[in-house]
Amino acid sequence: MITPVLPTYNRAPMAFVKGEGSWLTAEDGSRYLDLGAGIAVNALGHAHPALVAAITEQAAKLWHVSNLYRIPEQEKLAEMLVDKTFADTVFFTNSGTEAAELAIKMARKYHYDKDRADRIEIIAFEGAFHGRSTGAIAAAGSEKMVKGFGPLMPGFRQLKWGDHDALRAAITPNTCAVIIEPVQGEGGIRSVPDQCLKGLRDLCDETGTLLIFDEVQCGMGRTGKLFAHEWAGVSPDIMMVAKGIGGGFPLGAVLATEKAASGMVAGTHGSTYGGNPLGCAVGAAVMGIVSDDAFLDEVSRKAALFRQGLEGLVASHPTVFEAVRGQGLILGLKCKASNLDVVKAAYAEHLLTVPAADNVLRLLPALNIPDTDISEALARLDRTAARIEAA
Ligand SMILES: *Cc1c(COP(=O)(O)O)cnc(C)c1O
Repeated sequence: MITPVLPTYNRAPMAFVKGEGSWLTAEDGSRYLDLGAGIAVNALGHAHPALVAAITEQAAKLWHVSNLYRIPEQEKLAEMLVDKTFADTVFFTNSGTEAAELAIKMARKYHYDKDRADRIEIIAFEGAFHGRSTGAIAAAGSEKMVKGFGPLMPGFRQLKWGDHDALRAAITPNTCAVIIEPVQGEGGIRSVPDQCLKGLRDLCDETGTLLIFDEVQCGMGRTGKLFAHEWAGVSPDIMMVAKGIGGGFPLGAVLATEKAASGMVAGTHGSTYGGNPLGCAVGAAVMGIVSDDAFLDEVSRKAALFRQGLEGLVASHPTVFEAVRGQGLILGLKCKASNLDVVKAAYAEHLLTVPAADNVLRLLPALNIPDTDISEALARLDRTAARIEAA
């Protein structure tokens, strides 16, 4: 018999009732060290006092008004994002998927308005993940996500990871945009090398193709810069943001240059909840903390500490782990053993990790995880590996 909750997830049996920093308390009172952070959502850990204050204050004042009116909290967060990024303008959504939908629409509308309605094709990459809407699954194109849900939205193609010649050849007069995660999350914590992002930017400039970065998972300070693409010194025309920006409140955004956004005039797009006062008050509190240079330097310092420990684990457990991947605190352990077995063994050590494609164990801790919790996480990962070796 079907469960009251639609059974689209293979869920672990634990349920959590309370969170504090990098720790979650389960129904039975036991505590788990959280290296998943709601899949990069709880960027400041659980129950951060500044976020609790921001949501409580706003909740007592005003939860929701329609986008029929000016929303000062939304304007404030948009200004903060414009101030700290390449972008000239921002649209707020409730999720990464909705950000993908707008990014696709914006890119197509840009060319349409230039009398190039034929420029509709969007190029994506194997292993990509952009969300679960019909548009986003068509963009990523993975068999697992699209099977049974046809007909797919036309106008997408996927290229092999790292095949520069194929990319150059794939850009035709019909190409509208290229969409890419600077660090693939679901795909197995695969970073695009800086020189490849630079080359991609040049190729897009040469051909008038719009460049869309999906920083839903790797953005908002996770790599030690506010956005991952900053490491390469290039910027996109359009960028998708979500997950960490709300710190646990459902919030997403599309950031764009004035040029790329030029077609999105009044009436072309909207959202009932997107950018409402409650979400934007929380988002502004997150941005206020995460966009600070000293905070970002701390992310890099913690990441170096964590990474060093992970390299040690790879060396001491060569039959379980193979290599460390990622940048900043979006880290992956490429596994020799089954990554799903490792995730399960970690549960037994009361440690929460997240599997990714390519047999990778994802580690996405809160960006402010204390050094002592990093040491504790490494000790639990060590014991996790010992469990696998003993099995
Ligand atoms: C999670 C994710 C999305 C989808 O975001 P939702 O909020 O789940 O809709 C899109 N792109 C990337 C890179 C993601 O990690």
